[in-house]
Amino acid sequence: MAWDIVSTVLGNSPMKSSGKLSVGPASGAQYQLFRRSRLRLAIWYAGVMGTILTLLGLGVYQAIAHAHEVTIDREIKSVADAVHDAIEATVSSPGQLSRVPPQLLPDLCLSAETCLGPQNGPPHRLQRTYQYDYYIRIVDPASRLLATGGIRPEGLPVTAPFPPWQALQDEKGQDYHQVALALENESQEVWAYLMVGRSFQDFDQYLSSVRWSLLLGLLLSLALVTAASWWLSALAMRPIYQSYYQIQQFTADAAHELRTPLAAIRATAESVLRLPHISDKEAQETLTVVNRQSQRLTTLVSDLLLLSRLDSKQRPLVKSACCLQDLISDIVEEMAAFAIAEEIALAIDFQTQVPVVVFGDEEQLYRLVLNLVNNAITYTPAGGQVTLTLKRKQQQALVLVSDNGIGISLEQQAKIFDRFYRVDAARAGQAGNSGLGLAIAQSIAKSHSGSLTVASQLKQGSTFAFSLPALP
Ligand code: ADP
Repeated sequence: MAWDIVSTVLGNSPMKSSGKLSVGPASGAQYQLFRRSRLRLAIWYAGVMGTILTLLGLGVYQAIAHAHEVTIDREIKSVADAVHDAIEATVSSPGQLSRVPPQLLPDLCLSAETCLGPQNGPPHRLQRTYQYDYYIRIVDPASRLLATGGIRPEGLPVTAPFPPWQALQDEKGQDYHQVALALENESQEVWAYLMVGRSFQDFDQYLSSVRWSLLLGLLLSLALVTAASWWLSALAMRPIYQSYYQIQQFTADAAHELRTPLAAIRATAESVLRLPHISDKEAQETLTVVNRQSQRLTTLVSDLLLLSRLDSKQRPLVKSACCLQDLISDIVEEMAAFAIAEEIALAIDFQTQVPVVVFGDEEQLYRLVLNLVNNAITYTPAGGQVTLTLKRKQQQALVLVSDNGIGISLEQQAKIFDRFYRVDAARAGQAGNSGLGLAIAQSIAKSHSGSLTVASQLKQGSTFAFSLPALP
């Protein structure tokens, strides 16, 4: 990724422009892109939720309709059973139908003219149940109508008794369910069939009101889902936008950092090229500048490469047991010359006699502590003191790098771990520091499940604390 950044940067405008680059919020085209993506996300979300809600509504509707239908069919069956038992108890042939008790079936008509006599006294319980919605038909085994009772649906065909359950429609399109039961005499011979049917008009009306309620509920839910989708898509896009913005900022910063040494090399080369002759001393000076700047470039590019590898976890960590006492001693040995040159007293404080061993990538842990010590020496004036302390706190190994240098204000402490951030860019730049040291240190700490924190006071000094799980 770092090489991508480098090639992007070298081939693009950041190299040509002057001054420190900064990336603001998304430009018009980028804004359009993010807005379009947000819209697409919201449409997908609303579409999926809408489909799920519609299917759910259909399911609920089917369940209600089915439950009602089953209840009504059960009711039809119980009415049919009651009428069947009453008829079978008194009648055993078509000729005896007039014997049906009038209080039970007062409106039973044997033909269009002959109906059973007027009823005296209060209506029978069975009659109260069926008289408004039910029709009763008695047909002989050849499906000829013998008698009718209850309501009289217009244009409802007289059907054969099989299958026993039938769904019928009258000429107005009104639905009915009908059940047929065999009427038998004492010798178990079927002399007729009783057909009891019920109008589904009230049921259809009820289902129509359920349909409307569900439809209204669905429309309201869809409106809410659409609003929620728009809001949620913004929430989902936010981290993408942030990381896009960070990458842009990072690319611009990297370009700026690369431009400085490149510009120095170019200016040096151009100034020498303009001279008709060049002495050995001038050649030596020129090459020194070019060498220093290319070293700076090399360090910067390898820092970018390391950061990118840490980010993408491309290269797995080469973990092994590392003794932190050995690691710290090696670093102090390496930094001793630099500390002497800067007139800084570099000290070690091992607060434990037993070796503190951690499981990690030794090369990276070395780099982490080295960056902290390098900073401590760089940002401490001559005559200062830098101390490396090693402690063990329960299951944690703790490395403290403290100095009595310039310190960092509270406001800056929140930013110093950002890539390319330098409190005093001019001073750090002169020292060849690019502002990646702490970002790399923190990335390494995170990849080892550790933490890196800072405590500092301006003009008093700073303490960077790195802790990570220790091996028992
Ligand atoms: P640099 O390469 O500039 O040192 P770092 O990421 O290592 O970048 O540090 C970021 C900034 O944090 C530095 O520019 C410096 O201003 C500040 N800083 C880091 N360590 C110390 C320290 N020990 N004392 C004071 N300031 C520090």
